[in-house]
Amino acid sequence: MLYPASFGHDPLFPKTSDFGVVDKDEASGKGVICYRAFRRGEIIAQMSGEVIDVIRQHTLQISPDKHLYDPYFSGYFLHSCEPNISLDMKNMTVTALQDIPENSYLYMDYAETEDYLFKQFPCSCGSRYCRGWIGGKKEQMSVISGPAVLTVNQ
Ligand SMILES: [Zn+2]
Repeated sequence: MLYPASFGHDPLFPKTSDFGVVDKDEASGKGVICYRAFRRGEIIAQMSGEVIDVIRQHTLQISPDKHLYDPYFSGYFLHSCEPNISLDMKNMTVTALQDIPENSYLYMDYAETEDYLFKQFPCSCGSRYCRGWIGGKKEQMSVISGPAVLTVNQ
């Protein structure tokens, strides 16, 4: 189990035989890898953690003023503009968006859950859908030959 025993037991909690939090590379830092394959549409894990009222690094938004702080598993999902997992923050479940072969990194789209990111960043996911610069879904970015200009939607 990736979660401490104090989190209790849930058959869908991520097992260390199925998932690992590993150093990917210098640019990405840590990521979550799966050691077994999953089918598209399959619920692959149940998330857990501490619910806090601020955005931190490694938090995921549950509602505008509630964030899940999970430094054991979901807080380390990497971003892709063409993700292979989707997060349901109401039920705290992770679903495969496509068939995921074993030894794959798990990629979510940070804009799926986050209104605002702890830190915006340039994306190099390589997808043909890549948005280039990543912020939350309520942030609108325009990159004008240099740092991003941030405007906030009403
Ligand atoms: Zn991208």
